[in-house]
Amino acid sequence: MDFTGKHVTVAGLGVSGIPAARVLHDLGADVTVVNDGDDERARAQAAELTAWAAERRSGADGAGGSDRAGLTVRLGDGDTLPEGTDLVVTTPGWRPDKPLFQAAAAAGVEIWGDVELAWRLRGADAAPWLAVTGTNGKTTTVQMLASILEAAGLRTAAVGNIGVSLLDVVLGDTPYDVLAVELSSYQLHWAPSLRAHSAAVLNLAPDHLDWHGSMAAYAADKGRIYEGNTVACVYNVADPATEDLVREADVEEGCRAIGFTLGPPGLSQLGVVDGILVDRAFVPNRQKQAQELAEVSDVQPSAPHNIANALAAAALARAFGVPPTAVRDGLRAFRPDAHRIAHVADVDGVAYVDDSKATNTHAAQASLAAYESIVWIAGGLAKGATFDELVTASAGRLRGAVLMGADRELIREALARHAPDVPVVDLDRTDTGAMAAAVREAARLAERGDTVLLAPACASMDMFVNYNARGDAFAAAVRDLAPGPATGGN
Ligand code: ADP
Repeated sequence: MDFTGKHVTVAGLGVSGIPAARVLHDLGADVTVVNDGDDERARAQAAELTAWAAERRSGADGAGGSDRAGLTVRLGDGDTLPEGTDLVVTTPGWRPDKPLFQAAAAAGVEIWGDVELAWRLRGADAAPWLAVTGTNGKTTTVQMLASILEAAGLRTAAVGNIGVSLLDVVLGDTPYDVLAVELSSYQLHWAPSLRAHSAAVLNLAPDHLDWHGSMAAYAADKGRIYEGNTVACVYNVADPATEDLVREADVEEGCRAIGFTLGPPGLSQLGVVDGILVDRAFVPNRQKQAQELAEVSDVQPSAPHNIANALAAAALARAFGVPPTAVRDGLRAFRPDAHRIAHVADVDGVAYVDDSKATNTHAAQASLAAYESIVWIAGGLAKGATFDELVTASAGRLRGAVLMGADRELIREALARHAPDVPVVDLDRTDTGAMAAAVREAARLAERGDTVLLAPACASMDMFVNYNARGDAFAAAVRDLAPGPATGGN
C-alpha cells in the first residue's frame, strides 16, 4: 500500500491512535490526529508525538530522515473532518454516529479501525488469522486457542482486543505461523475488508447497545467476523443467533459451518460425550465416527461456559489442522487470567470464588450456572441492564444474596419478584470497604458445601478502580475470614 502524500486523519489520541499515527507517518502519509479532549494529558501526548515526528523527519534519530510529510495534532475538536482527508483511521471506541464519520461518509472517504489498518498492512505471506468474538468468553477462548496452537508446535500469539496490538504484531519481525485474534464488536464494525481463515462467535447477548444503536446492528457487526472465511465458521449450537450470522455471511467456496455444543455433537459439530470433548467435524468418517480430543477435567475451570469456550477454541484449531493430542495438551496447559472464576480459598467447608470479571448479566448467569448452592455477591453499575432473566434462571441455586453498589436496588427488585424466599442482605453501601462487610455477611449465610460467588453482573467503577481491584478486595476479605498460620517467606 502506498501512503506517500496521502492525507490521513487519525481519530483519537490514545492506545490505538498514537501507534497508528506513527506507523502512517513513517509510511509517508501526511497525518493529522484529531482529538475531542484538550486536557493536560492530551497536550503532553500531542507534544511528544509531534516532537517524535519532527525528529524522524530530521533524521536525528538515525532513521535516515526523509522527505516524509508532516504530523500535526488538533486538540479539542474531534468532529470536524480536516480539509483534504483521503482516509480516516479511527480508534475503535469512537461511536459511528459522530459528525466526523458522517462528514467522511458524505465525502466518500473510507474509515478504517485499528484492525483494518493492521489487516491491510500485513505482509504478502503473513500468518492467517483465527478470529474470535462474542459477548463473553473472548479472552479466555483466544488464550486457550493460542495454548493449543503452541502445543502443536506452531509459532503463534494471542493478539487483538486482548491487549497485544495487532499493528505491532503484523509489522514486527517475528514470523508467525498463525495468529489467535480477539476482536470486539467495535473493531469489527471498522474492519470491512478483514478475511479470517476461520472465525467463531461464542455467544450474543445485549451489550454496548448505546454504541451500536440496536441489537440488530450489534449482531451484524459481530457477524462481520465470518465474512470471507475460508475454512470454518464456528457457531454456538445453544445460541441460534450465532448460527444465523453464519448463514448470512458471504464466505469462500468450501468454507464449512461448524457448531459446538455441551451435548453430544451432531454431524459437523464438536461436543461432549460422557465427560469427553469430541470432534465430529474434522474427522474423515464423521457420519459414523467421532474423535476424542480431551477430557472435561482437562479444562480449568471446568464450568459449563468454559467447556463451551474450550470447544470453540478446539474447533478453530482443528480447522487449522491441529492434531487431537495438541488440543488436549494445549487445554491442559492453559490457566485462566485472574478474576475469572478463580477459587480463592475454602473456609469452614465453604468455597470462595472470584468472578469479578462477570461485569454483565450474561457472564454472571454463566458463572451462577456452574455451582449448585450459592451465596451470591453482586452489584455495581448496571449499565442499563435488567436482572429478571438472570435471577429467574438462577433462583433455584441461591442460598442467599448480598448486594452492594450504585445499582443494587435493581437486583434487589428482581430478587423480590422472582426469588422472594431467598434471603437478601442489602448493604446499602458504595464505598470500597463494603467488600469486607459483604464477605462477612456471605459467610454468615453460607452452609457447608456452598459456594460464595462474587459474580457482580455489573461494572465496578462506582466502588473500585476496575474489576481487578474489586476481585482483589474480595480475596483480601476472604483471607481475613480465615487468618491461618503464617507461612513465612516473603
Ligand atoms: P471477554 O474477553 O469476552 O470479556 P473473558 O474470557 O474475559 O471474556 O470472560 C469474562 C467473563 O465472562 C468471565 O469471568 C465469565 O464470567 C464470563 N464468561 C466466560 N466465558 C463465557 C461464556 N462462554 N458464556 C458466558 N459467559 C462467559
